[in-house]
Amino acid sequence: MNVSIRQAPEIRDPSGHATPGPALELRDVYKEYPGGVRAVDGLTLSIEQGEFFSLMGPSGCGKTTTLRLIAGLDSLTAGSIAISGVEVSGRTHAVPPEERRVGVVFQDYALFPHMTVAENIGFGIHAMPRQPRGIRVADLLDLVGLAGLDGKYPHELSGGQRQRVALARSLAPSPRIMLLDEPFSNLDAELRASLREETRAILKASGTTTVLVTHDREEAFSLSDRVGLLNNGRLDQVGAAYDVYHYPVNRYVAELTGKADFLPAEIRNGRIYTSLGEFPTNDRPEGHSARGELMIRPDDVSVAPDANGTGVICGAEFLGGSILYALELPDGERLHALMPSVRPISAGTRVTLHFDPAHLVFMAHENGS
Ligand code: ADP
Ligand code: MG
Repeated sequence: MNVSIRQAPEIRDPSGHATPGPALELRDVYKEYPGGVRAVDGLTLSIEQGEFFSLMGPSGCGKTTTLRLIAGLDSLTAGSIAISGVEVSGRTHAVPPEERRVGVVFQDYALFPHMTVAENIGFGIHAMPRQPRGIRVADLLDLVGLAGLDGKYPHELSGGQRQRVALARSLAPSPRIMLLDEPFSNLDAELRASLREETRAILKASGTTTVLVTHDREEAFSLSDRVGLLNNGRLDQVGAAYDVYHYPVNRYVAELTGKADFLPAEIRNGRIYTSLGEFPTNDRPEGHSARGELMIRPDDVSVAPDANGTGVICGAEFLGGSILYALELPDGERLHALMPSVRPISAGTRVTLHFDPAHLVFMAHENGS
């Protein structure tokens, strides 16, 4: 399929001068492992200075491989990668990892167990004279909220503290780009939420361009300026979290970004016809007709008990503040509705469905009309 990748607008500093182009550019990058696995399959992507970008996708879609290529830990099969406008990986040459000024934090944030917190953080800047190095380490300890813990060893720290040390260690050499590979996935839910907010604040405050890879949509959505949806080594869509959630380009993106139902649908004369009735289309030219599916998110559907309603409640999942209802429609299709949980509706109840037509997304079948 064709994917157009929106170029972020040029970022200007307050004096009005244009900054020198993207922080990171991947052009037609391919990575094939011996044995023929194509882990990265034609990736083109441009990330702006200071941007927080997330690559999201399920396990095995090529996230870690992409980060390793950017860091220079693996060589690419074809294409090129440029950092601040300078090619670092290409057909004929590769800049070694230590000269790229790229910091990496992996999932298991392996700290050196026999080194103190301060020694761990100072590890990547050992060439720096002792005094400025000490100041840099103290500044970083402050930045990540660990002042006073410089003499501790990794085993004396909590998981969240260790992760912050790993972040500080990667920030010490002032990387131009920070790569984060599922850095929060080993932490429990509450810590994960607070730490990811802190991490974003720390990276934004230091002006570091960041690429996070994750399979967790909440993480990608809450942290990122833009999100890229990776599908078997290819980018299906790149955009702001709001856009990829509300306007997914295909079913893969729709399902990766949230819960979604799909009803058979047809477009004729500017209207969408489904078993639930017809809806206006705002963006299709008159006369255009196509068969496809209508994507409906549970949060765009509300239900109310009604003896003459079109749906019947056939299941309910209690989620705390809300309940996810499963509905059966007259033609046997299933749909979900997310509703506040204070007034539960019991199974078997007939209900009327309400939609906001502005949120419905029509996806034409590949073979068109
Ligand atoms: P993700 O991080 O999204 O889970 P990876 O980048 O680790 O995905 O892997 C992408 C694909 O490449 C997978 O099919 C994986 O099995 C394969 N792969 C990863 N590393 C290697 C390797 N060193 N040798 C061969 N195949 C690999
Ligand atoms: Mg991975």
